[in-house]
Amino acid sequence: MGASPVWDAVVVGGGIYGASIAVYLRQARGLARVLVLERAPALMQRASLRNQARIHAGYHYPRSLTTGARSLQNVPRFLAAHPSALRRDIVSVYAIAASHSKTNTRQFVRYCREIGAPLHEPRPALAALFDPAQVESVFEVEESVMDLGALARSVDAALTKAGVEVQVQTEVRGLRKLASGALEVQVEGQSGGRGVEARHVFNCTYSALGRLAGAAATAGLRHELAELAIVEAPPALAGVALTVMDGPYFSIVPHEGGLHTLSHVRYTPHLSWSEDATISPAGRLAEYRGDSRFERMIRAAARFSPVLAHTRQVGSIFEVKTVLQANEADDGRPILLERSADFPGLYSILGGKIDNVLDVLDRLDAEALS
Ligand SMILES: Cc1cc2nc3c(=O)[nH]c(=O)nc-3n(C[C@H](O)[C@H](O)[C@H](O)COP(=O)(O)OP(=O)(O)OC[C@H]3O[C@@H](n4cnc5c(N)ncnc54)[C@H](O)[C@@H]3O)c2cc1C
Repeated sequence: MGASPVWDAVVVGGGIYGASIAVYLRQARGLARVLVLERAPALMQRASLRNQARIHAGYHYPRSLTTGARSLQNVPRFLAAHPSALRRDIVSVYAIAASHSKTNTRQFVRYCREIGAPLHEPRPALAALFDPAQVESVFEVEESVMDLGALARSVDAALTKAGVEVQVQTEVRGLRKLASGALEVQVEGQSGGRGVEARHVFNCTYSALGRLAGAAATAGLRHELAELAIVEAPPALAGVALTVMDGPYFSIVPHEGGLHTLSHVRYTPHLSWSEDATISPAGRLAEYRGDSRFERMIRAAARFSPVLAHTRQVGSIFEVKTVLQANEADDGRPILLERSADFPGLYSILGGKIDNVLDVLDRLDAEALS
């Protein structure tokens, strides 16, 4: 970077949010000098890689009409930005549990109609995956799955094309207000510590959001240490994503290499805690030694879909999932975009799912980034 003059924007965190915002700042807002700082050895290695890869099309949020409707609207925009990330070989199936579900078939059908999400009669082979005594209804839906490796490559290409500078293995440790009105971003990299001056700073560090000064709304964050089991599913599940709604149930979604990820609302979160400045989510994840809950997940899932009893675990992914506490009841996934009162020019940004980044960009359109 050399003896750098002031950056127009420094984006902290190189996941899908930080990378997309950096591209937006260059291309849509015309900022000349935009820098992404990422502490990992490469971009897109954390939550943006370690997730269930669903391109949400609304079906998952029957208790939050806004999240559902926005998801559906974002799908074509997301795919226009990252067409290579779409897996075209996937069929998605949603079933409504017969007991204890927070939604029933009538409500789910009405909700999908309201947001404009199509529901189809399932092919017999797909309907046959479920125990009819355990589910009220089964639908084939129009929801896609991402190739997360291809998404990471698409993001890299977009950053290069936009002329965004990227520095990996560079951790941001703090911020300081300068007399000039600019911010000093304090970084620790391979060559030691230094300060980087910026007019705008975008904190896109997801679970680490509250660790940078100046983000008041992070008090409302909740973190979960989540397990996704990586499994070899029986052949009947090849290219098929199954989700049972709406409560303590499971989903199994195609992953890379012919494998699937399995998650269960009850067993996937091993720990959960409210934002607390004394707890580092990354530290908690690194230290965690809990056993896999695959056996419990698959036993619960096989009650609904008996064929799943023949699923074999090949590993697990653990990652911290961060959501806004305010949405625990409706399971909605709105965004957090907060302009700091203490540090002019600092924005804190968080989205509960990948496509929500488009909502952030829409909101940023209204911000004067002079
Ligand atoms: C288990 C699980 C399943 C999920 N399933 C889905 C799904 O199916 N579909 C969906 O749309 N969403 C899903 N999500 C949510 C989705 O993954 C996240 O909303 C999204 O990836 C957040 O992107 P991000 O860029 O904010 O975070 P990240 O990708 O985590 O990026 C943040 C980056 O900031 C870096 N960083 C942190 N602190 C610092 C620092 N001090 N200095 C420099 N860099 C720093 C990190 O290393 C990281 O690279 C899931 C999440 C989890 C955990």
